[in-house]
Amino acid sequence: MTNIRLRILSFVVIAYMLMAFTWWSVLLWKTLEDAFQAKSYLMKIGMIAEGRIRTDYDFYRSEDYLQLEQDYERQQWMVAGEGIFFVISLVMGVWLINRGYNKEVHSTQQRRNFLLSITHELKSPIASIKLVLETIRKRREKLLPEQMDKLTNSGLQEADRLNTLVNDLLLSAKLETAYQIHAEHFNLDEFLQDMIWKMEERHSDADFHYHSDAPGLIVEADKMGLTSVVGNLLENAVKYSRKGAVIRMELVQKARYCTITIADNGIGIPNEEKDRIFDRFYRVGNEDTRTTKGTGLGLFIVKEIVRAHGGTIEVSDNEPNGSIFKITIPTRLK
Ligand code: ADP
Repeated sequence: MTNIRLRILSFVVIAYMLMAFTWWSVLLWKTLEDAFQAKSYLMKIGMIAEGRIRTDYDFYRSEDYLQLEQDYERQQWMVAGEGIFFVISLVMGVWLINRGYNKEVHSTQQRRNFLLSITHELKSPIASIKLVLETIRKRREKLLPEQMDKLTNSGLQEADRLNTLVNDLLLSAKLETAYQIHAEHFNLDEFLQDMIWKMEERHSDADFHYHSDAPGLIVEADKMGLTSVVGNLLENAVKYSRKGAVIRMELVQKARYCTITIADNGIGIPNEEKDRIFDRFYRVGNEDTRTTKGTGLGLFIVKEIVRAHGGTIEVSDNEPNGSIFKITIPTRLK
């Protein structure tokens, strides 16, 4: 609210400045004109008294008058030039201030969203693990082996979630300052197949498909980094789709590059959001109304790791709905 008031106040001040400036410009223009009229009138009387001219025509052709007229025109140009320069500077200044203000509001909103989501993301697995441990402590004797298994599995899953989150936080901080590719040679086709199997274990309700055009493709890349890239994209494909999502991953090799495509049939990404989703902490929508969990770090990590490999990432719409993420990376690091 205070921000809106401040904005209105600044617009009022700017409007006042513009009006005051216009008024002073018109006044200066009029004063110049009056001064010119008065000077030329005095000059004319003087010249008639000295007998230098007889008619108006002689006066307007005289050198003194032409000089006076030239000075007057120069002053007019000066006033007009200064005026235009002032208005351009003012408009540019307002535009820059406005842009800076919008950026600041945007990043404050993102930081707020991040804090809200990170608090939730950190607290909820901790609460679940605590609950699991308390249940085991209280009902140790009464629990059946399968109940015990279920509880410990759920505790482990939550611990995994916490671990992934902390890793993401550390990796994103590292990516901004000191990320170094740890190059390894490995079979990318097998690696991707393995990722799909792991995802199938975690998300039994999703339908994963993998197709490779490059069996046995050996690449030089950061295996841990690519685990994060592919893992984040596959997790997102599940997270932003309904139950029973069909997720397709494809590997294609083109000369010294290979592309990994991950397509889902989920909620899709509006065109105006497609560039922003790769920003750090950015999440589509508002934290107060959103139902999906997340921190807005995943795609930032994906983009930075792909970039560190000298590759690119693109996002497009899937048919009839959903999104397609396409990564292109060189098969050898430069
Ligand atoms: P998070 O998933 O933690 O919110 P990400 O950086 O992974 O953060 O993604 C940023 C945003 O991009 C998400 O909040 C979501 O709105 C959008 N998004 C990412 N992947 C998909 C997808 N496959 N389908 C629809 N929206 C997506």
